Amino acid sequence: MIKIKNKDEINLMKKAGNIVSQTLSHLEQFIKPGIETIELDSIAEDFIRSKDAIPGFKGLYGFPATLCISVEDEVVHGIPKNRVLSDGDIVGIDVGAIVDGYYGDHARTFEVGNVSDEKKELMEVTKKSLELGIEASRPGNTIGDIGFAIQNYVEDKGYSIVRELVGHGIGKKLHEEPQIPNYGDKNTGPIIKEGMCFAIEPMINLGTEKIYTKSDNWTICTQDGLPSAHFEHTIVVTNKGSQVLTQYN
Ligand code: MG
Repeated sequence: MIKIKNKDEINLMKKAGNIVSQTLSHLEQFIKPGIETIELDSIAEDFIRSKDAIPGFKGLYGFPATLCISVEDEVVHGIPKNRVLSDGDIVGIDVGAIVDGYYGDHARTFEVGNVSDEKKELMEVTKKSLELGIEASRPGNTIGDIGFAIQNYVEDKGYSIVRELVGHGIGKKLHEEPQIPNYGDKNTGPIIKEGMCFAIEPMINLGTEKIYTKSDNWTICTQDGLPSAHFEHTIVVTNKGSQVLTQYN
């Protein structure tokens, strides 16, 4: 069953969304060649706790850190460690936070130093596909309409979509019903209603859509070693359309 959130719940989700958005904006200044991903993780954890929130990923399903940091060919779920970011890398950073029992979930892919036009375009297309998915998240539409909007745009641009990982409902749990694939057919799946909250998160690859899991049992990578981008917003469906709870400038 897809939960409908009431006003009080949506207000808490707004607070959680605001904190994860601020966390990534705060981190941006530190994303430079030479920094270790584990350093970014501790900056984020301190920041979230300073806002009286709880890191949403740490300990969940056994994940060891505050952030998922996925560099270059890593798609998602990269574990922060002593890996040093290099000039020209792209790095996906995914963060969750809990405020009074409610989750916010948000991801952006960042440039490290001078990034190639090829990678910049991959990032732009991924970001735009997220916007199109959000536009399709309106009362009366279906979950399939979201996937269709993303797939139609991304494949037309010549990129591929990771199939095994999907967006999701969000609220008191990080992952609630429904699953929200980044591909699909119009007019299929559950009908979207006001008060539903979703995390929409296209994962888009430059080359093959095929992925594998590294031996750490967490990090998902592209099979061909080409880069991948990931953007994610938490949204609430309103009577008019939807509102992004993890907005940034
Ligand atoms: Mg998510």
